[in-house]
Amino acid sequence: MAVDRLYQLLQNRIEGVVSTPDQFHPAQLTNFGNLYHWTPRFVVEPASARDVAAVVAFAREHGLTISVRGSAHSQSRLAISNGGILLSMTSMRRILPPDPSGRTVDVEGGVIWRDLVRALAPRHLVPPVLTNNLSVTVGGTLAIGGLGLTSFKYGTQGDNVQELDVVTGTGEKITCDRKRNSDLFWGSLAGLGQAGIITRARLDLRKAKPMTRTYYLLYDDLRGFLEDAKAAMESGVWDHLESWASPCPQGTKPVAGRRQVFARWFYPFHLTVEFDPENPPDDAKLLRGLKPFDRLYTDDLPTIDFLERMIPVFDLWKRGGTWGHVHAWVETVLPWERAADCIESVLPDLPPSVLVGGHVLLWPAKGTSSRSRFFMRPPGEDLMGFGVLPAIPPRFWEQARPMLDNLGRLTELMGGKRYLSGYIDWDEDRWREHFGDQWEPYCALKRKYDPDSLLNPGFVPFPAARPAGVPAAD
Ligand SMILES: Cc1cc2nc3c(=O)[nH]c(=O)nc-3n(C[C@H](O)[C@H](O)[C@H](O)COP(=O)(O)OP(=O)(O)OC[C@H]3O[C@@H](n4cnc5c(N)ncnc54)[C@H](O)[C@@H]3O)c2cc1C
Repeated sequence: MAVDRLYQLLQNRIEGVVSTPDQFHPAQLTNFGNLYHWTPRFVVEPASARDVAAVVAFAREHGLTISVRGSAHSQSRLAISNGGILLSMTSMRRILPPDPSGRTVDVEGGVIWRDLVRALAPRHLVPPVLTNNLSVTVGGTLAIGGLGLTSFKYGTQGDNVQELDVVTGTGEKITCDRKRNSDLFWGSLAGLGQAGIITRARLDLRKAKPMTRTYYLLYDDLRGFLEDAKAAMESGVWDHLESWASPCPQGTKPVAGRRQVFARWFYPFHLTVEFDPENPPDDAKLLRGLKPFDRLYTDDLPTIDFLERMIPVFDLWKRGGTWGHVHAWVETVLPWERAADCIESVLPDLPPSVLVGGHVLLWPAKGTSSRSRFFMRPPGEDLMGFGVLPAIPPRFWEQARPMLDNLGRLTELMGGKRYLSGYIDWDEDRWREHFGDQWEPYCALKRKYDPDSLLNPGFVPFPAARPAGVPAAD
């Protein structure tokens, strides 16, 4: 194979590593969704923010696009590149010591959250919000939102950032915060990487207690669960809240003209408090007023183990082979008032088999806990996250697709706002609908900081965007 004539020119410009298609690993051609398989022209692993700026300058000179990639745990047309540069940020994972007061820490954009959690553990410091999956990068979750079990108190991960260094689509390196270059700051949080590449973030920290106690409650009635979820959010006593819908298969019934397995659904609700070992929680006092169908289990764990509690689950998905399936997750933030109707209209016909290697999430949340401009959510104080997260064998994808398309549309019609790292295949009208009155500011941000549509093409159909994968000029 002839050597790409731009290869050496690009490599000469940076300290990091450039690779060409003959060196790519198949995983670099897709993401966790496994829905699209695109081949970049180069994969670049930058060594520094200077490298990132040099790559942007190079791309501009040669008419190449840049798609930014963290751990590629998103789906759809994110973190993959069709003929452009795939900028693989996990090569930039330096963690500086926290500031002396323990309130903030500076990290590079490619830092994996799990590495940060472990680095901070000896000082009992934690970022206020952590995602269930800790193998993702700081830049990757800030660009999407970043939700976790504490979001009902602290909002998105983006709500817990003090300052960012961003390399824009024009190649400028800009430091921004809530006051300085604030449009770029807010535009980089839940902005899908469309304005710039986050090379450094100053993240908030909080002090965590060394132990956690989790109460495993089970509900047999959605509305009863919702009532208690709201009470739990408002009680001010819980540190982490997590819930699901869990199927108990019953047999088959006709659904859309075919007999299909159906389930009776139950609602596990896990409520967690942090504590010092010398001052254990008072179980009766904490649980007073809650009305579960059953109380199954109480689990005491060191806080670090609690934060890493999902690692064995994801390992099981990997060992079981479902990690490599198609993932077309439909995750929606619903208005509280319509959550029960929406969930009750979906679950009775949802075949439990779609949840092998996946699950159905229910996340009680407070809309008022976030100030993020581009993390779209319904109006109102109380919100409910509803996520149907299937793992579909590739040969069944076309069969499953209409169900997931309909599910996504239904949740949007019920007033929900979709979480954008999942299965999104929208035309411009639906993007406009999603962003509502933020669509114009979002497009203006793109025009200002990435006027030539270099960054992350192929996902958001900006009015003047160049189509994804347009070959380089030379
Ligand atoms: C098993 C599993 C569990 C999950 N659980 C949660 C959860 O609990 N909460 C939650 O919120 N999400 C969850 N997610 C979704 C996941 O957090 C998001 O997909 C996240 O974006 C993944 O981060 P990443 O590093 O893999 O980013 P990627 O998938 O690589 O990239 C995502 C987006 O960020 C952009 N990007 C990446 N790095 C940068 C950067 N440095 N600067 C600017 N833009 C950048 C990319 O261009 C892309 O648009 C889960 C995903 C999986 C697979």
